[in-house]
Parts: sequence; C-alpha cells; structure tokens
Amino acid sequence: PRIIVGLGTCGMAAGGTKVMAAIETEVEKLGLDVDLDFTSCIGMCYAEPVVEMGLPGAASVVYGGVYPEDVAQLIESHMVNKTPVTDKAEIQISAGGATYEGIPVMEKSPYYEKQVRSVTSRLGRTNPERIEDYIATGGYAGLEKALTMEPQEIINQVKISGLRGRGGGGFPTGTKWQFVADAVGDKKYIVCNADEGDPGAFMDRSVLEGDPHAIMEGMMIAGYAIGANEGVIYCRAEYPLAIKRLNMAIAVAEEMGILGDNIMGTDFNFKLRIKAGAGAFVCGEETALLNSIEGKRGMPRVRPPFPAHKGLWQKPTCLNNVETFANIPFIVRNGGDWYASMGTEKSKGSKVFCLTGKINNTGLAEVPMGITLREVVFNIAGGIADGKKFKAVQSGGPSGGCLPAEQLDLPIDYDSLISGGAMMGSGGLVVMDEGTCMVDVAKFFLNFTQLESCGKCTPCREGTKRLLEILERICDGLGVPEDIDTLERLAKTIKTSALCALGQTAPNPVLTTLRYFRNEYEAHINEKR
Ligand code: SF4
Repeated sequence: PRIIVGLGTCGMAAGGTKVMAAIETEVEKLGLDVDLDFTSCIGMCYAEPVVEMGLPGAASVVYGGVYPEDVAQLIESHMVNKTPVTDKAEIQISAGGATYEGIPVMEKSPYYEKQVRSVTSRLGRTNPERIEDYIATGGYAGLEKALTMEPQEIINQVKISGLRGRGGGGFPTGTKWQFVADAVGDKKYIVCNADEGDPGAFMDRSVLEGDPHAIMEGMMIAGYAIGANEGVIYCRAEYPLAIKRLNMAIAVAEEMGILGDNIMGTDFNFKLRIKAGAGAFVCGEETALLNSIEGKRGMPRVRPPFPAHKGLWQKPTCLNNVETFANIPFIVRNGGDWYASMGTEKSKGSKVFCLTGKINNTGLAEVPMGITLREVVFNIAGGIADGKKFKAVQSGGPSGGCLPAEQLDLPIDYDSLISGGAMMGSGGLVVMDEGTCMVDVAKFFLNFTQLESCGKCTPCREGTKRLLEILERICDGLGVPEDIDTLERLAKTIKTSALCALGQTAPNPVLTTLRYFRNEYEAHINEKR
C-alpha cells in the first residue's frame, strides 16, 4: 500500500505540504503499514493538492482537491475499506492490476487522452529526489549507451530525430551540435538555459523539479558528443525548488560516479554547476545569459560570432534549453527514428505546453506536434471556464501572438504558428474568453517587454516605450484614428531593427491583435470618454 503526495511548486502552493503532514498523522494514528512518498507535478495543476493512493494488485487512484480535512475520510475509505472515493477521484493509473468502475484510466481520461508522455513521463510518477527512481525508469541508460557510440553517431541520431530547440527558436538541435563539434577550440562548454521567464510558462520549472537527472543526462550526452567536459545550468533564482533538486541530483550523481571523472569507467569526464540568474528576463536570450554567467551585465551580444563558435568565455558553446536536453536521453535510448515518428514533417516529436487563462483545466500538457489548438483548448484544457465563449489564445508568451477562433484548427508546429502571426515560443498558452479586451492584452505584454528591455539598442529601448504610450492612450479613451497606423509602422520598425529576439518579437502581441482584433482598437478610439 502506498500514498504519494504531489509536491511540485504547484502542489506546495496549493497546500500539499500540510496535506502530507495530515496523512502522516492519520497513518500513524491508525497504525497503517503504508509507504508514504512524494512526487512532482503530474500535470493536473487544476486539481492540486493531488494525492495518489494505491493498494497491492489494484490500480492506484489519483485524488484531486485534497485538503487536510479530507484526509481521514479518504484514508479510511480507500486504504482501510478498499473503496475509492469516486467524487474526489480524478484518474486511476493501472499497472496491469484490477481497475475500478467509474474512474477514468489515465490514458483514457479527458485530460490525458490526447497527450503523449515522453519528457514528462516521470513527472508525478517518481520521486525526483531519489536517483534510484530515475535509474529504475531507464535513467542514465542513454548515457551508458552514448558512451559506447562514436560522438558523430550521437550527433547523427539527434539530426535524424528532427529535434528542434524547445526554447522557442526552433533551430535544429543536431545542426547546432554539429557546429559546436566542428568548431575549433581547446575547451568547449555545454550550457542549459533554464531561465524560463514568460508570463504563463512553467514547463521548464516542472521538468527541472520533476526530472532533474534527465536534464543532466542530456547535457552529459551532449558534452560527450561535441567534446566538452564542463557544463553550466543557468537557472532563474525564482525557482528555488528546482535549484534544490538540481543540487541534490548533482551531488548524488557525483557520489555514484555518474558525474565527474571517468564516468561509468570510461575516460569521459564531465563536471556540472548551477548558476542562479538574478531575475532579468533578457538573460533568457542566449548571449545575455552567457554574459551573466561570466559575471558581466546581462545584455545581449552582437551576433555573429554565434555561441557555437564564440560562446562562454569566447569558447565554442552548445546552448540548449531544459526541454531540449531532457529529450536527448530518450532519443539516444530509442533512436532518432523513434522520435521522428511523432509529430509533423518539419516539427518532430512532442512539446510540453502550459495551459493557463480562462480555461477549466490549467496545467501542464505534453502533446504530439501537429495537434490542433482546438484539441488542446477544448479537449485537454476542458474548454472555457464559466460557460463563456472562446476569444483568443496567446501562444509563445510576450514574444508570441494572439490567435482568434478562426485559427483554432491551426496545427501546433513551429511553421504553422508563425504563419498565423504567433510563434511556438517556449510553450505558454494563455487562453482568453469573450470578456477579455484584446487591446488590454497587447498593453499587458508590451508593458512586460518594455520593463524587461535591457536598453542596449534604441529601437527596443525607445520604440517599446512609445508603443506602450500609444496603447495606454487608446485604453484611456484618448486615442486618435492615426494611432493605429503609427502603432503598425512603429511595431514593424522595431521588429526589423532591434538587436535581439526580445525586441524583435516584442511587437508581436500588438501586430496580431491589430491583425485579428482591429475593431477593438477602433472601438476604443471611437468611444467617447
Ligand atoms: Fe536590449 Fe531590447 Fe536591444 Fe535586446 S532588443 S538588446 S533587450 S534593448
């Protein structure tokens, strides 16, 4: 018998730690012989605090909305009387044993039916602070296999997989690795970008908290493939649980000879450290991130040279994000073809999304590339909350765009989203209902990017300020008809002339709302104060 409590940041924020304490007390009071454990976020953030209860020979049941006052009754019913409490049960997870009537099996439940679980396969299923759980679920088998392969063969497999950078840019990972492998340098680095900062995005945090070894394993495989023996994880300081679990994972891997010198008895050495960011959104831009690691002010560098040739300390550097590295062990273990069998022609594999906004089911979802926005919003996210109508979905955070109902059948892949005026970004999907003012939405995102602009180049520093001023004027009922033209011209100018991706993409929310919701701008301008 076992009871597992979800203790990712979402679970803890919802009160999971108190639920855990209440379970401990109740188990002790009843003298039950139960394995009490914790796990990370299973993805159903809308149902937190989440508790899983399992009896030998039967499926385990995941209960949602469990508060300390519910604990005694749940334990008595499920663990003592062997009767699940169906009105609190979200899903059941069967490992081949008997299943219960009236509770959906995970794979057939509305939230998970259209999902795939690859990068997120351990989330909510293993204890992320126990390396034994990682190894028992295939962990470090990818590294073990990689160390028997020629480095070029690993790069070839990554190329075959079609994996593209999951941080938002979508650059082919295998091609990037090849550039770094071919670059001349006495020293090379692997850097993991864990500086996730988009409003509404928490994919990387969930993977960092739920499967830290997978990221480390991906980085080690990359190090072996491109000839680097040092790695840095640049993680935002606002993710203390992620940093704690990474530190624990690094320490235990070093102790076990999986990280450090002569890894797994070979002559491959790799050391890894964490650098905590200081909260600047622009440090998610790769060259600003490298400057920050070097102790300089976090400002983007002019490219070229690209990090693949002159990155950290001016040495060839392979920089990928959390989800990209977390995919690597699966690709090496199962082969590039396996990964390429999922997804669309140009966007292979799966992508993790964060579902937030005016929906019924907020949470984390991993979907095959090519799934439509409609399926994500209406099947997985359960449609719009409070019976309201869908209005728009913002894809890609402050750099992305707002897509209207007419675009709901757009497949989610890098190129389709760009054709719609949005972008994949790192994976935030913010859904808006009929009560949302789209000019307000554009103003919100622009306010964010304007505050986060590092000020290095004029188009972004001055241009985003002017854009924001016009938007504020319009929202305050002081806009004039010419404002729409000015917004459009200025937005396009910033897009083509800003130095880094922050500025180049900052106008996207303005441009997409002008494209799809121009009537709302006009209504603001025409209305009398
Ligand atoms: Fe800084 Fe913005 Fe220019 Fe990027 S585009 S370098 S964030 S001022």
